[in-house]
Amino acid sequence: AFLDRIQELDGTVGAYLTVTAELALAQAREEDDKRRRGEPVGPLSGIPVAIKDNLCIQGVPTTAASKLLAGYRPPYTATAVERLRKAGAVVLGKTNMDEFAMGSSTENSAFRITRNPWDPQRVPGGSSGGSAAAVAAGEAAAALGSDTGGSIRQPAAFCGVVGLKPTYGRVSRYGLIAFASSLDQIGPLTRDVTDAALLMEAIAGHDPADATSAPVPVPSWRDALTGEVAGVRIGLPREFYGEAVEPEVAGAVRAAVERLVADGAVADETSLPSAEHALPAYYLIATAEASSNLARYDGVRYGYRADAGNLADMYLETRKNFGPEVKRRILLGTFALREGYYDAYYRKALQVRRLIKDDFDRLFATFDVLITPTSPVVAFPLGARTADPLAMYAADICTLPVNLAGLPAVSVPCGFAGGLPVGLQIIGRPFAEDMVLRVAYAIE
Ligand code: GLN
Repeated sequence: AFLDRIQELDGTVGAYLTVTAELALAQAREEDDKRRRGEPVGPLSGIPVAIKDNLCIQGVPTTAASKLLAGYRPPYTATAVERLRKAGAVVLGKTNMDEFAMGSSTENSAFRITRNPWDPQRVPGGSSGGSAAAVAAGEAAAALGSDTGGSIRQPAAFCGVVGLKPTYGRVSRYGLIAFASSLDQIGPLTRDVTDAALLMEAIAGHDPADATSAPVPVPSWRDALTGEVAGVRIGLPREFYGEAVEPEVAGAVRAAVERLVADGAVADETSLPSAEHALPAYYLIATAEASSNLARYDGVRYGYRADAGNLADMYLETRKNFGPEVKRRILLGTFALREGYYDAYYRKALQVRRLIKDDFDRLFATFDVLITPTSPVVAFPLGARTADPLAMYAADICTLPVNLAGLPAVSVPCGFAGGLPVGLQIIGRPFAEDMVLRVAYAIE
C-alpha cells in the first residue's frame, strides 16, 4: 500500500531519491515468514520506513543529495538503520535532502526539489525535507532524519509531523555521512509522539562503532507517555519569542503552553542571554567541521570522478561538482581554521558554545523543560530564500542553540498559522528524552 502511495504521489511531492521496492517487499516477506513459522517478531515488524539519503545502506545508492556521491553504494549499513531492521522495519527508500544536510528547505539537493504536502508551492523545510514530506504525505509510516542545527525539527514543524533530535551521543552516528561531527544526531520523524518513542527505543543505545555514542541505558520511552504534566516546570526563554517570530506562530505556541498550565504544569518566562550568539557560533563551528569532513570527496575513494589528464586536475574537476552552498561552507570553514584566524573565529565560537551550554545548565536547575517555537516562521514559498543565504540561516535561530549544547529536543505540531502547521519545540536536560516526550504527548 505504501509503495502504491509513493507511485501515486511522489511525482508531485518528490520526497524520495531512491525507492527500494524490491528490498522492501523482500524484507516484508521475511517478516511474514517469521510470523507464519510462529517465530517472535520485533516491535516494528513489517512497518515501512523511509531513510534520509545521508544514512548508508549496504548496496543501496546513498548520495547525501550530492553529485559527488552519485553512483555510490556503501559497503555497510548505518547502525540506526541496522537496528530498525532488527526491530522488523521495512525500508521503502532513501529520501531527498539538502546536499550534505546543508540547508533549511531541501532546495540545495543536487537532484530534485521536494514540495510541502500541505501546499505544493511551499518548501517542506530541511535538511530532512524528504523524510518529513514522506511521513506527512503518507508515503512512509515513519522516517529517519539527521539534525545538525535543526534538520529534523524544522522540517517536522513545516510538514506538521513529530521530529525528535536526541541527546548528542544517544544514537550511534556510525554510517551517517558526516556534516559537522560534534553536532550531528540521527532521530525519528513520525506521525505522532508514540511512534517517535517506538522508533527511539529501536535505534538508541551505545554502539562501540561510534566513539561518541554514550553508554547510557535505553528506557521504555512509551512508559513516559502518561498524559500527566502536573507539577512540570516549563521555562519560556524570551529570546525565542522576539520580533523575528511571526505573531501567529508565537500565538499558537503560547496557546499550547496555556493548555499545559490548565493541566497543572507551571510556566514562567525566563532568559537565555547567549542565544543571540548561537547563529554566528554555529555557522563557524559547523562549517569548520564540514570543511574537514568533506575533504575526503576527492574523486579517488567515493562516487563521482571527473576525467582529467593529471591528479591535481582530477581533484579540481571533481570538486567543482559540489553545489554552491556546499562550496560556500567549505570556503568559510577553511578560512575559519586558517593559522592566524583560528583564535579570532573558531576558538571564539567554541567559547560561545560553552557559554550557551552554561546558560542552559543554569535554566535546567529551575525548569524541567524549555518551550519555544521550532521555527520563527511557517513553511515559506519555494525560491523565497534561495537568493539570500543569511535569510535562510536566520530560519534556524530556535533550533541551533540546542545542538551547540547537545540537548534533546522535539518538535510537535501545536496548531496552524495561515492554514499551515506550526511546530512547538520542547528542550530537555541531557538524556531526558523521557520528559521531553512526556510533555510532547500531552500537547498532541
Ligand atoms: N539549516 C542548518 C544548516 O544549514 C541545519 C542543517 C542541519 O541540521 N543539518 O546548517
